[in-house]
Amino acid sequence: MPAPAAPAETTYPLAPYKTVPTQDLQFRIETVRRQMGNRLMILGHHYQQDEVIAHADLRGDSYQLSQMAADSETCEAIVFCGVHFMAETADILANRPERLESRGGKRVTVVLPDMAAGCSMADMAAINQVEAAWADMAEVIDTERVIPVTYINSAASLKAFCGRHGGIVCTSSNAAAVLQWAFERGDRVFFFPDQHLGRNTALKMGITTDQMPVWDPYQLELGGNTETALENSRVILWKGHCSVHQMFRPEHVEQFRAKHPGIKILVHPECPREVNDIADVSGSTGKIIQTVKNSPPGSKWAIGTELHLVNRLKAEHPEQEIHFLSPVVCMCATMYRIDLQHLCWSLENLRDGHPVNVIEVDPEVTHWSLVALERMLSVK
Ligand code: SF4
Repeated sequence: MPAPAAPAETTYPLAPYKTVPTQDLQFRIETVRRQMGNRLMILGHHYQQDEVIAHADLRGDSYQLSQMAADSETCEAIVFCGVHFMAETADILANRPERLESRGGKRVTVVLPDMAAGCSMADMAAINQVEAAWADMAEVIDTERVIPVTYINSAASLKAFCGRHGGIVCTSSNAAAVLQWAFERGDRVFFFPDQHLGRNTALKMGITTDQMPVWDPYQLELGGNTETALENSRVILWKGHCSVHQMFRPEHVEQFRAKHPGIKILVHPECPREVNDIADVSGSTGKIIQTVKNSPPGSKWAIGTELHLVNRLKAEHPEQEIHFLSPVVCMCATMYRIDLQHLCWSLENLRDGHPVNVIEVDPEVTHWSLVALERMLSVK
């Protein structure tokens, strides 16, 4: 399919892009980048596939990327090669009231190249389920003394819920400091959507598993808990997980240690507790990257996080021996939906004045999400 000869007034359909050869797609993507210059920012999440990352202006984790793009003075459009909640966060930050005012009310257009690029973890906690859980637990415990904490990997509506109820957002790098902040303001924390990050963080703070009941939204009575369990709780964990990090098992750790003496195990805290507890190092995506970067040549690692990131670390650090911790492929299948076809399609529509897949968060949700995000930023 040749590139559109002259800008059309209507949206270009996606279907013809499916048959365009890779080299042509790459050329056309780079053409749009050149034409739009610094008005356009393509953001590539660390878990994104290499052929997409090759066209990104910035590479990073979701919050870091959104913040960098939102702070740009020239950016008029963000194309987020990540998943839905990341594009929402970018929209919230790039179009927050003071930024809008500084641009005379002009919004930054935020595009997600494929709307089907969701996050299985974020999808495990819907706002109506969280609100129903909050109402149910209020029959047993004083929710005025419960601080809701949402992992940044969640829908904007959940961030807004936290904003409205004295709660806060956390990332995998600041989760412990955020929980500390929460305990200074309440007796308990309601943590969603990732039970593993909540549990792994709270365990390190000395909270025991019997103080961490799991709230299952599909159980009719109190999320499957007794009144006593809720009364004795310190952290109520939502029954959600990342389908990628959930796949790493303790036997993978044992197999690597048996086969590769001296190897170190490096995992993300979204991994289950049984893996996290026996790893040598556990930390956010940023920490994983830094740990490898700061290690001497000859270091041996088995890394438990998304496959594309591990493969990239392997390519960037040939002086070290890097393995993927699982024998099965653990990759973020939803993020993988963003491919060159979708990227080229969304970019050409954007350039020609009819953007597709625009993410625009409701103003009320934006307001309360910002309250929760700003509380996070206040945590040192
Ligand atoms: S890796 Fe897991 S938490 Fe991250 S976007 Fe994919 S499904 Fe969501």
